[in-house]
Amino acid sequence: MVAFVKFLPILVQIYAVYGDYYTPSEEVGEELKRYDPSTDSRYPFELGLGRYYQGDIMLVPPEGRNKDGRVSVPDSLTSYIWPNGTVPYEIAGNFTPSELRTIQNAMRMFRRYTCVRFIPKTANDPLFVSIVNNNTGCYSYIGRQQNNMYNLINLQTPQCLMAVGTPVHEMMHALGFYHEFVRPDRDDWITINRSALLPELQTDEIYDNNFRKLRFEPMTFGLRIEYGSFQVN
Ligand SMILES: [Zn+2]
Repeated sequence: MVAFVKFLPILVQIYAVYGDYYTPSEEVGEELKRYDPSTDSRYPFELGLGRYYQGDIMLVPPEGRNKDGRVSVPDSLTSYIWPNGTVPYEIAGNFTPSELRTIQNAMRMFRRYTCVRFIPKTANDPLFVSIVNNNTGCYSYIGRQQNNMYNLINLQTPQCLMAVGTPVHEMMHALGFYHEFVRPDRDDWITINRSALLPELQTDEIYDNNFRKLRFEPMTFGLRIEYGSFQVN
């Protein structure tokens, strides 16, 4: 978990540079209701592009940040890390038994493949993630926030829980991960094809706000990880 520290300075950069990717959008929710995975090549968590940072990351709004652009309260960036890789959580949405099983299966994947543990919150856990299903798409905030208002994973149902991959993906953001496609070495491996975006998203502003490379050393914990898959060599 120490390795997460390397990600953290990036948080400050993003909050300082971008300012309007923090409002839950019912338009995203409406679009997601019309989403048909049999004809749409996108993942459900990609539908927020243009409204949510990188498509499905929620940033803390200005009133939650300090004047210098940082998020409020934390003096030490290590506060963004969940201690001991343990993430207390509560289920605060209205999920069906089947959807709850999908959430549990996602947590089980972390338990099976990583040191991360999602555990039901207790009275001794002041900070915990709430998992909800508002009709505003699939998204999460990044890392452990000092205000539980921002320790939130939204999984609109049924679309965000049609497969285990989406809850796993959003839980990764809650742990502190951004997307592989903003890795500083991504140009060595992939090309960003702007023409594949929806026409209204093919602007410099969208590109700069969502596809600009982050400035930190790539870190894959000794694993070979490819965007869109979890492949271990
Ligand atoms: Zn994502």
